[in-house]
Amino acid sequence: MSDLTELFGKGNNAYFSNGPITRLSFLRTNHELLDAASTHPSSKYLTFDNLNPLSKEDKFVYLGYEDVRTMIGRPYEKTEKSLSNDFDPSISPPTLIFLGLDLEQNSNAIKLEKYSGTAYFALDVSNKDAFKKTQTDLGYAYKDNRIDLTLSQAASAILSHSRSLLDWNKRNLFCSSCGGKTMSTHAGAKVICPPSTGRNCPTRIGLHNQAFPRTDPTAIIAPISFDSKRVLLGRNRRWPENYFSALSGFIEPGESIEQAVRREAYEEAGVKIDRVQIHSTQPWPYPSTLLIGAMGQCVKGGEEVTYPETELEEAKWFTLPEVAKALDEGANAMWEPPIKGYVGPRVPPQQLMAHQVLRGVLKLFHK
Ligand SMILES: [Zn+2]
Repeated sequence: MSDLTELFGKGNNAYFSNGPITRLSFLRTNHELLDAASTHPSSKYLTFDNLNPLSKEDKFVYLGYEDVRTMIGRPYEKTEKSLSNDFDPSISPPTLIFLGLDLEQNSNAIKLEKYSGTAYFALDVSNKDAFKKTQTDLGYAYKDNRIDLTLSQAASAILSHSRSLLDWNKRNLFCSSCGGKTMSTHAGAKVICPPSTGRNCPTRIGLHNQAFPRTDPTAIIAPISFDSKRVLLGRNRRWPENYFSALSGFIEPGESIEQAVRREAYEEAGVKIDRVQIHSTQPWPYPSTLLIGAMGQCVKGGEEVTYPETELEEAKWFTLPEVAKALDEGANAMWEPPIKGYVGPRVPPQQLMAHQVLRGVLKLFHK
C-alpha cells in the first residue's frame, strides 16, 4: 500500500468516472482514423434521446455502425478543414461524440495508430423519431436517467462523459459572439464558428475561433472543528427531514478552491475555516459539474454556527462516531425512504462526493 493510500484511503474510484474507455483525445482531429473507427463493425454506438441512453432492463444497449449508417453516413469522410469550408448552417447532422477506445475489448479490435481495442461513440437521436421507433419496437427504451445511482462503475463513466458533451453541444448551437450557427468539431469536443456562415465574427481573429466544453467547479465541504473531533453537516430547506450532508457551493471566478471553501462555509454556516485540504473529486454530469471534495479545519473559536445567508435550514456539529454510524447505517439517496430501523441523521450514499469526503475525514481523524 502506498503512503498516500495509507493516509487518505483508496482513491480514484469516484462514481461517474474512471471507466473502461481511454479517450485518446489527440486522435479527435484525425479524420482518417475516425472514419475507420466510426465505420468498423466492432464499434459501439450509445444513442441518446434528450440525454437519456437507450437501455434494456437497466443496461445500456449499444448499436453497431450498420444500425446508424443511414442516419450518420460517413461523418469523418472529409477532413475537418474541408467540412468547415463547406459548412451549411441549414443542415443539422446529429451530434456525434467519439468517446475513445476500450483497450481491453480486443475481439475484432480496430487499430488506431498503436492503440487497439473497441471504439465507442455517443450519438444524439433526439429528433429522429422513425429511428427511435425502430428501437422501442425492439423492446428497448430511452430511460430517464436523471441522477441515476444504480449503474455499474463502467456504465456510470460512459454516461457521464457522453451526457455532459451531448448537453454542451446542444447548448452551443449558436456562436456566443455573432449569433451564427456553430459547427461541432474535434469529434464532438469543440465547436467553431465557420467562416462559411458569411458572418463577420470576432471569434475568428487570433486563436479564439472556438469554444471548448465547460466544467463548472463546485466545492463539497466538510468543516472540521479546531480539535478535529467533530464535523459540521448542513440541511438544505428543500431536503427531507433529518437528511444532512456536507456544505457546498460554486467556485467563483477569481477564487482559489481553498478560498471558495472558506467563503462558502462562512456564508452558509458562519464557521471560520483556516487550512483546507482537497480530498478527491468527481464529475457530475447534470449537466457538467466537477465536484471537489474538501475538508477545512476551523480556526480556534471559529465553530459558532450563525447563518449569514439563508440557504440552510440547519447546520449541526456531529461527533466522528456519529458520522461513522450515519455513513455505515443511514446512507442513501434523499429521494429514497429512510433506512428501516435507523433513527440517526441520514446522509448521502457512497456514490456521492459528500459521502467520500466524510469518509476521508474519518480516515484521518477517527482512530
Ligand atoms: Zn461567430
